[in-house]
Amino acid sequence: MNTLISQLEKDFKSELSHIQDIKDAESLKIKYLGKKGLISDLMPQLKNAAAEERKSLGALINQFKTQVEEEVNVLYKALLDLELQKQLQSERIDVHLPGRRKNFGKQHPINAILDEVIDTFRQLGFAVGYGPDVDSDYYNFEGLNYPKDHPARDMQDTFYVDPKHLLRSHTTNVQLRIMEQAKPPIRVIAPGTVYRNENISARSHVFFHQVDGLYIDKNVSFGDLIATLKEFWNRLFKKQVATRFRPSFFPFVEPGLEMDIACTVCSGKGCRICKHTGWLEVLGAGMVHPEVLRNGGIDPEVYSGFAWGMGIERMAMLFYGVTDIRAFAENDIRFLRQF
Ligand SMILES: [Zn+2]
Repeated sequence: MNTLISQLEKDFKSELSHIQDIKDAESLKIKYLGKKGLISDLMPQLKNAAAEERKSLGALINQFKTQVEEEVNVLYKALLDLELQKQLQSERIDVHLPGRRKNFGKQHPINAILDEVIDTFRQLGFAVGYGPDVDSDYYNFEGLNYPKDHPARDMQDTFYVDPKHLLRSHTTNVQLRIMEQAKPPIRVIAPGTVYRNENISARSHVFFHQVDGLYIDKNVSFGDLIATLKEFWNRLFKKQVATRFRPSFFPFVEPGLEMDIACTVCSGKGCRICKHTGWLEVLGAGMVHPEVLRNGGIDPEVYSGFAWGMGIERMAMLFYGVTDIRAFAENDIRFLRQF
C-alpha cells in the first residue's frame, strides 16, 4: 500500500506540472479529492492492511490528502491571478493609441448662404413664407402676368407634371398665395428650390435655390425698393457695398431692374470672377405689376409694392469662387469641407 501511495504522489506531481488553466486545476482536484476520487479509493484498502500498519498508513494518506489540497490551492490561486492579469491587460486603456476619428457632417454652403440671407431679411422686418414645389401653371406663370407665348413657359424650360401642373420654375410662385392670404402691409421672403428643364453643365443645373421677396403697403415707392435692397447687402457684408441698377424686364414687375454689387473679390478693381467689370449681377427686382396685385386681390389704386428674386447658387459661385454649379448638387464631402 505504501508503494500505491507513493505512486499516487508521483502521478499527482506529474499531473500538477501539466496544469494549464483553472479548469484543469478543478478536474485535478476532483480526481484526487472528490467523493469518488483516488484518495477516497484508498480507504477501503486500508481495512485489508495489517492492524499495526493501519495507523501509520492512515496518517500517510491524510498527509497526502493535505498535500494535494495545499498544492492544488496554491496552483489554483496562481492561475486565478494569471487570469486576472490577462483580463486587465486586454482591458487596459493605452493612452498612446490615437483616438478613433469621428466623421462629422458639415453644413452645405447653399444652406449656409440661405440662412444668412433669411437672417438678414428678418432683421429688416420680413417674415418667411413657403410655397409648393409642384404648382399650377396659374401660380407659376399665368397669374404672374406671363403671356401665353412667353418663352419661359416653353416645355423645354419647365418640367410639366401634366398640362396644368409643373415643378415651379421660380419661388415667385409664392407671391399670389401670400397676397390671397394676407392683407397689406405684406413683408415676406420665400426661399426654396426651383426647377428648370435645362442641360446640366458647369453653368446651369436642373434645380437650384432662390429667395423671392415681396413688400406691399400704401405708398411703397421705387425709392423704398432701392433703399431696402441696398441695406440688405450692407448688412449681409457688414460694410457699405457699392451697388448699381440697370433696367430689365420681368412680366410680373413694372418697371423691372437688375441689381449689381461691387465685386466682393476685387472690390470693384476687376478680376476673373467679375469678368474684369468690377460688378456682380446679384438679383432681379421691380415694382409689382398692377395686374399681379389685382390677381392677388389687392387694389393697385390703393396699394403698391416691390418684389425681387435672387439665385443662391449664383451667389455661392461668386462669393466662393466656385466655377462649376454641379459641385453644389454632388455633395462630395471633399468639396463641402472647403467652406
Ligand atoms: Zn472682381
